Amino acid sequence: MYSDNIDVAVYHNLIDTVHKNLDKMYDYVHFRKEFLGLDELHMYDVYVDLCEEKPKDIPFEEGKKIVFEALKPLGDEYLSDLEKAFSEHWIDIYPNDGKKSGAYSWGTYDSVPYVLLNYNNTIDSVSTMAHELGHSMHSYYSKSQDYLYHNYPIFLAEIASTVNEILLNDYLCKHAKTKDEKRLYLNEFLDKIKGTLYRQTMFAEFEMLIHDKYEKGIPLTEEEISSTYYNLNKLYFGDEMVSDDLIRFEWMRIPHFYTPFYVYKYATGISAAISFASDILNNSPGAKEKYLKFLHSGSSDYPLNILASSGVDMTKREPIEKALDMFSTKLKELKELV
Ligand SMILES: [Zn+2]
Repeated sequence: MYSDNIDVAVYHNLIDTVHKNLDKMYDYVHFRKEFLGLDELHMYDVYVDLCEEKPKDIPFEEGKKIVFEALKPLGDEYLSDLEKAFSEHWIDIYPNDGKKSGAYSWGTYDSVPYVLLNYNNTIDSVSTMAHELGHSMHSYYSKSQDYLYHNYPIFLAEIASTVNEILLNDYLCKHAKTKDEKRLYLNEFLDKIKGTLYRQTMFAEFEMLIHDKYEKGIPLTEEEISSTYYNLNKLYFGDEMVSDDLIRFEWMRIPHFYTPFYVYKYATGISAAISFASDILNNSPGAKEKYLKFLHSGSSDYPLNILASSGVDMTKREPIEKALDMFSTKLKELKELV
C-alpha cells in the first residue's frame, strides 16, 4: 500500500465496517433461500438470476439514449462532453472478425480516450457502455492536469466507471416496465455489492490473516490456509448458507492473491463510487460539483487526498456505510416487490 500512500487504517476500517454490517448480507442470503424455495442454500445458488426474462434487442442508438437519460444527474456539461464520444468516433462498437472480446477504455495524453465495445443489443452491453464511458470521461477530464499528473492510479480507476453503472442501475430500476424487469435490476445491484464489497473485503481479510500468520512464524500449510478461508466464508455468508467442504479450497483459484493487497481496492472503489452516486441522486448540495472536481484531478495528489478533497474520506466509516445502506434499501425494495 506504500506506493499509493494508503494508510493501513483504511484497510482495517474497511474490514471493521463490513463486519458491523454482516447482518445485511445474512438478510440477503435468507431472502434468496426463501425466494428460490430451497431447503438448503449452497454457495453456487447465489449466482442464480432472479428474473424470468432479460430485456433484449436494444439497438445501439437506443442504448445510447438510455445511458444519456441515466447520466442526466451529472449535469449538462458532462452530457455535452459525453456527446463527443459519439460525434468524434471514440467508440469501436460492434464485434468483428479478429476483434478482441470484452471491453475497455484506452487513450494517451495526445489522443482521445478510445472505447472498445462488443455491443450486442443486450442490457448488459448497455451497462458496459456506461462503464467504459465512465473511464473515458475520467481520462478526458484528467487531461486538464499537466502531462505528469494526468494518469490516475488503480486505487481511483474504477470509481468513475462504477458511478455510471450505479446511476444507470438506479434509472433502470425506476423505469422498469414489468415487475420481473425491476427484480432483475434490483438483484443486479445487490449482486454487485455482494461480489465487489462483501466478497472482496473477505478476500482482503484473508490476505491480512495469512500475512499475519507468516509474520508470527506460523507455518503456512495447506490445512492452515484452507481453514482460514473456510472460516471466513462461514462468517461472511452466515449460518443459513451451507458451507460445503470444497469451498475451503476456493482461495487456490483466485489469481489476485498473487498480487498482494490489491483486492481491497475493489471494495474501497465501489464504496467511494456509491458514496458519490448516492449524494448526486439525493441532490446533496455541491455533490455534482465535487464529483466533477474528482474527475478532473488525475494524479495531482495522493489518491486519499484527492477523494477527501472531493468529499469522500476513506479513513472514515461513512462511505462504506453509505454503500451498505443502499444495499439494505434495495433489498427492502426487492422484498416488497416479490
Ligand atoms: Zn473498468
